[in-house]
Amino acid sequence: MPEHFEVIIIGAGAAGLMCAATAAKRGKKVIVLDHANKMAKKVLMSGGGRCNFTNLSIEADNFISNNPHFCKSALKRYTQWDFIALVEKYHIDYYEKTQGQLFCRESSKLIRDLLSQECQSNGAQIRLKCEILSVETVLSSSQTDTFKAIETIKSESAKDLNLTAKNQIGSSNQNTTFKLTTSLGAFTCESLVIATGGLSIPTMGATDFGYQIAQQFGHQVLPTRAGLTPLTFKGRLLNAFKEMAGNALQVQVSCGQQTFNEAILFTHKGLSGPAILQISNYWQPGQAISINLLPHVDIATWITQLKESRPDIQLKTALASHFSQAVASFFASEVGFQGKLKQLTPQHIENIVQTLSDWTIYPEGVEGYRVAEVTLGGVDTQQISSKTFESALQSGLYFIGEVLDVTGHLGGYNFQWAWASGHAAGNYV
Ligand code: FAD
Repeated sequence: MPEHFEVIIIGAGAAGLMCAATAAKRGKKVIVLDHANKMAKKVLMSGGGRCNFTNLSIEADNFISNNPHFCKSALKRYTQWDFIALVEKYHIDYYEKTQGQLFCRESSKLIRDLLSQECQSNGAQIRLKCEILSVETVLSSSQTDTFKAIETIKSESAKDLNLTAKNQIGSSNQNTTFKLTTSLGAFTCESLVIATGGLSIPTMGATDFGYQIAQQFGHQVLPTRAGLTPLTFKGRLLNAFKEMAGNALQVQVSCGQQTFNEAILFTHKGLSGPAILQISNYWQPGQAISINLLPHVDIATWITQLKESRPDIQLKTALASHFSQAVASFFASEVGFQGKLKQLTPQHIENIVQTLSDWTIYPEGVEGYRVAEVTLGGVDTQQISSKTFESALQSGLYFIGEVLDVTGHLGGYNFQWAWASGHAAGNYV
């Protein structure tokens, strides 16, 4: 006999655990199934081990989706303040690192423990190392009766009655039972929640399971790509970046209409750091990115004054007042001026301003899912209720968290989406 639950959630990550705790709090009989050997692995590794669990300022503009309004309702109904209250209830010490980003002072394990405790104290079960082999719908007895009724009606060719029976099918669909075949036996449920996340970091258990289930039930899955990932370069720039590896700069990075004021980091593969991760969500192959290396400096005034006060220094020495020696030498060569400041012409000064305020470079690619923090694209939200997260195509089926086509900026937004969508579905299943 299959084990029966009112709610089965596949995926013991941030969204799945929040959903489980919320549904169990309502008295639902809930189980979470996950193929991994530990729950909430991404919570554990997040924020460099300190979990950037939310942000003080959460707006729809912080999320990328083909359907930009979709995220608004859930984010309004479970806010950053709700999650902060939960963190405080568990006496977890936290701090604002930068730009509203809230991190645990001690360890992200405390957020994992909070989620685990919320599930446990409300009676939600969690079963790990559980491979899901198949998901199917089975007819409940009321549906079987309805189908029998249709057969009778069809044989009587009663058009108007046939219509009534069809309507009954629509309503009996409310009682769909899902049957899951798994490595730990068979399970059945009335509500099935898919919380299996995106494709980033496959070594942490990421799979395309959620997309497969979505397609099985007729949902569209929008093209996926790695997000919040370092950018790679080749040739001359890559060699230069290797020389400067480890140096970080506070800059302004732009791509198309998007601009981020954060740090970049030179690495042996190209560019990383928060500003680069942010812009990687918007960058498309072949596009340029533009970097203002001194966003808070009036470069023309600064270099003109320096030409007066220190005419005999070289440009790379002047640049070293803002950058390390290695970075200063590189940008002096990017400007293409190797002489002393007293030799600078107005054209040279214009070149310096142009290079330092709008350094335009063409990435070769992104580092990809191996290191990406998130997956862009996913289950199309057009066929999902923004209120309940239930499928419009299959009643009783829900999608939450990163598996959906909703991706947050860097800064705690992705967890806030997991909490909000998990909470919304948990209140409805
Ligand atoms: P996940 O947390 O990915 O959970 C999905 C679960 O489903 C996993 O437990 C997985 O094992 C399970 N699963 C997958 N496939 C199957 C299957 N076939 N069968 C059974 N189970 C399956 N966001 C922030 O807001 N702040 C941060 O500080 C932050 N840091 C991050 C650092 C890193 C290195 C990474 C990779 C991500 C980070 N993120 C951060 C993003 C954040 O972790 C995710 O957006 C969030 O975890 C998504 O939650 P989720 O529950 O939808 O999916």
